Amino acid sequence: MDSVAIVTGGSRGIGRATSLAAAKRGYKVVVGYASNKAAADEVVGAIEASNGKAIAVKCDVGHEADILNLFKQADAFGKLGVLVNNAGVVDATARVDEMSAERLARMMNINIVGSILCAREAVKRMSSKHGGTGGVIVNLSSVAATLGSPGLYVDYAASKGAIDTFTVGLAREVSTEGIRVVGIRPGLIDTEIHASGGEPDRAHRLAHTVPMRRVGTADEIANAVVWLMSDEASYVTGTIIDVSGGR
Ligand code: NAP
Repeated sequence: MDSVAIVTGGSRGIGRATSLAAAKRGYKVVVGYASNKAAADEVVGAIEASNGKAIAVKCDVGHEADILNLFKQADAFGKLGVLVNNAGVVDATARVDEMSAERLARMMNINIVGSILCAREAVKRMSSKHGGTGGVIVNLSSVAATLGSPGLYVDYAASKGAIDTFTVGLAREVSTEGIRVVGIRPGLIDTEIHASGGEPDRAHRLAHTVPMRRVGTADEIANAVVWLMSDEASYVTGTIIDVSGGR
């Protein structure tokens, strides 16, 4: 296969697992990262050690110029087949009546605007309307979109609700242009995102609220992502899959 898969935030957590799983299935992987180059280089090294192909590209999806550069680097690497809109952030636990405008702008800019801008660049390359031969866009949402995350981060939940709506809308917009657009709503997954929200133990602390009584692993999300990317999911578009242990 000579198809390129871009994974934003592909250097740690769910993105890292997705980069490795995509490489295993033969994709050339563009591993996006925001600031931790060492982590991105480690993923590229692991892929190359298994005879796969990957490059690391610094791309803060909060900056349009970074996104344009990400796609430019991907173009030079090969033909784009897949975009995984994985990069996303939480913030410190807070009630809505405590949230600043700056916090909200950062959250929405990275989680929503960043994903939509990346999808725009992918559609320009994949759509038959633009001379492309199709592709798949996988958006990482969260079960927070359905639960609302009261008292934790309603802003984050709302940003993921927007991603769900975007997934359905874009899927229908480009459904006859060879592009499938799908989403995944992970539940509580064991990654460092919880520490970045100031609560490293959050996932494990809440594990008892999950019907399966455990947190999920990044690999369990990546397995769903690579299935959605594959031709096995050829009739699946505009669909958002919960991978959440029943939560
Ligand atoms: P994570 O462990 O915190 O990893 C974040 C990754 O995204 C890193 O590669 C990081 O790069 C990158 N990143 C951070 N800010 C970025 C930005 N502004 N632009 C581009 N890349 C950025 O996160 P995760 O838990 O794997 O989450 C991945 C996705 O799944 C997110 O969209 C998240 O909302 C969603 N999700 C996660 C959970 C969960 O429980 N973990 C549940 C539901 C949904 P650097 O290392 O360079 O910072």
